[in-house]
Amino acid sequence: MHNTILQIALDTPLDTTFDYRYVASTENSAQPQIGQFVRVPFGKREVAGLIVGVNKTSDVDPQKIRDVIELRHQITALSSHWMQLCEFAAEYYQRPLGEVALPAVPKALRDAKVGAIDRAMKKIAALAKTKEAETIAGAETAQHVTHTLNEQQQQAVDAIAATTAYACHLLFGITGSGKTQVYLQAAKALLEKTKARGEHAQILILVPEINLTPQLEDQVRASFPRLNVVSLHSQLSEGERLRHWLAAHEGQADIVLGTRLAVLASMPHLKLIIVDEEHDSSYKQQEGLRYSARDLAIWRARQLAIPVVLGSATPSIESWQHAETGRYKRLTLTQRAAAQATLPRVGLIDMERDKAVEGLCPSLLSALRERLARGEQSLLFLNRRGYAPVMHCDACGWISNCRRCTAFMVLHKPERRLRCHHCSLELRVPQSCPTCGNVDIQPLGRGTQRVEEHLQTLFPEARILRIDADSTRRKGSAQEAFESVHRGDVDILLGTQMVAKGHDFKRLTLVGVINPDTALFSQDYRASERLFAQLMQVAGRAGRAASEVGSVSEVLVQTRYPQHPLYRALMNQDYTGFATSVLEERHSAGLPPFVFQALLRAEAKTVDKALEFLTTAKTLLDHEGIIINDPVPMTITRVAGVERAQLLLESTSRTVLQAFLKPWMQALRESKSRLRWSLEVDPVDI
Ligand code: ADP
Ligand code: ZN
Ligand code: ZN
Repeated sequence: MHNTILQIALDTPLDTTFDYRYVASTENSAQPQIGQFVRVPFGKREVAGLIVGVNKTSDVDPQKIRDVIELRHQITALSSHWMQLCEFAAEYYQRPLGEVALPAVPKALRDAKVGAIDRAMKKIAALAKTKEAETIAGAETAQHVTHTLNEQQQQAVDAIAATTAYACHLLFGITGSGKTQVYLQAAKALLEKTKARGEHAQILILVPEINLTPQLEDQVRASFPRLNVVSLHSQLSEGERLRHWLAAHEGQADIVLGTRLAVLASMPHLKLIIVDEEHDSSYKQQEGLRYSARDLAIWRARQLAIPVVLGSATPSIESWQHAETGRYKRLTLTQRAAAQATLPRVGLIDMERDKAVEGLCPSLLSALRERLARGEQSLLFLNRRGYAPVMHCDACGWISNCRRCTAFMVLHKPERRLRCHHCSLELRVPQSCPTCGNVDIQPLGRGTQRVEEHLQTLFPEARILRIDADSTRRKGSAQEAFESVHRGDVDILLGTQMVAKGHDFKRLTLVGVINPDTALFSQDYRASERLFAQLMQVAGRAGRAASEVGSVSEVLVQTRYPQHPLYRALMNQDYTGFATSVLEERHSAGLPPFVFQALLRAEAKTVDKALEFLTTAKTLLDHEGIIINDPVPMTITRVAGVERAQLLLESTSRTVLQAFLKPWMQALRESKSRLRWSLEVDPVDI
């Protein structure tokens, strides 16, 4: 009988590991190793844990040490590289290791019965065998679309493939410049290079949106018919996620394609990381461990001394700054790749002159009519779902406030509901004003549902499709919707940011942007950067194969501020000019990327309680080299009945900030305050 003491990380907010005893039942049973999973008793529950240390002894009273219930020896232990990645994320984002490492692996692996894991292991082994057989037989299944790369694409591929150590490449290519081909060819070159050395290579490709994975997955599979490609995203079933994760972890998957959570996938032979649309805000996790998948991808590449590629037509200001200073290597694609593709012409519609009816200006309508007459597709972009953002009573001034949040309840007309988009509260639409009984209560403003309704009356013959979070609730429905657009079954596509990203719509020659102005005056200093990226992106959906359909593509933006520099830059499709002026502004205002920030948030029954906690937090420790601002209520102060406030910390040195945060967190934990608080490092929504 061997007794071993194991240090185990558990998914709890307590910033410590826990000692357990492992008793080997027979002489030859498996010895526990760092990086293996266990099941252990914790309080009255049984939970999953990760072994982070193996010792003979412990400081804990032996009476109090409990036994491991089960050692998951059939799964290869996680590598020290993976453990270091989690340790870094835990340190940097100020969370306990267990809260990083355990949620990073599939639930099924943590909780499942051993039988389920055995079955999954058999399945992935069988899959690997089939791939091997295909390779031996030389079976080329999918027909493979390769383009001869243009000169700029080839230069980019060569630069990436020539990298033999860590390097971060910023692939700055306009929409439609063929960035995907660069990723795939660079991957191919790298696979060949490593194969020639007799090494195994794995490649990680991150995409911002689940809805973009099927399109890219098809392309990747077609380019690499003999390789094992798996996806990792939140819409997989538990069983799929387990199999895909295991395939990556056991080295059987060659290419892993996933959303942000895939950045923590275990890939023992990782040789290249690609982050598509690197500027996209969905790379930032907004709850729990608030990590940036892009930043972790870069850290991971540096740790492994491998190349990482960040691709975008509108890079994040941070990445652009790094390219300017030479920390990132910039690779530029300035032309649309497809032979017939042209860049669309961007025009502004001055709403002061061209008065809108139901939100649509006459000149936009006539452009729509032209497309309908020619049998071409149009896309209307309105980043607001629902029918109307608020309901209102003219007689008494009642307004559809959410009773639990500092927010309006949004009218969803088809469902006849008022919905709060912050706390999910739902009410039936009242028949009359709840305050004065007036039966004539009105929707104010407009969302996608209302524009859809209006378009239907204007163009009864047209096939109109709305794509937003409401129309695509059912699993798989978003993909079906996009496929019908690709098939040409849709004349007018209307949607939120869901339609702005990535899709290569071949027959689309008009993009109309309905109500972008609000973002110009947001308190959030990143709002204009986001708006510009979004508009460039949605504009980029047009003209991808213009001469196939025979007409020039157009982007029309309805605005009250046609002179605004942001719209001027958009008209010239001038990202570089825009980024330069944003960087100048940020520099003179002392904002990121010239300073580093962290944000402490507190939640309480009253704003005063939250502010009081933050005021105390501010004075807890000396903070030389760090500016701690005054605590303030959050913009949306109340959500689901909870009042929220925040405290912003800034420093010109990341190291100084990090050095302060650790003891500060410790002090905050020891203050044993009963209210909920959380820290975000490098916050994006302030
Ligand atoms: P991006 O991701 O940069 O917006 P895509 O990778 O979607 O651009 O490419 C846009 C279109 O150009 C696609 O239809 C793609 O097949 C095509 N394409 C890419 N590279 C070439 C090339 N070298 N020659 C011809 N067509 C190309
Ligand atoms: Zn009223
Ligand atoms: Zn609410």
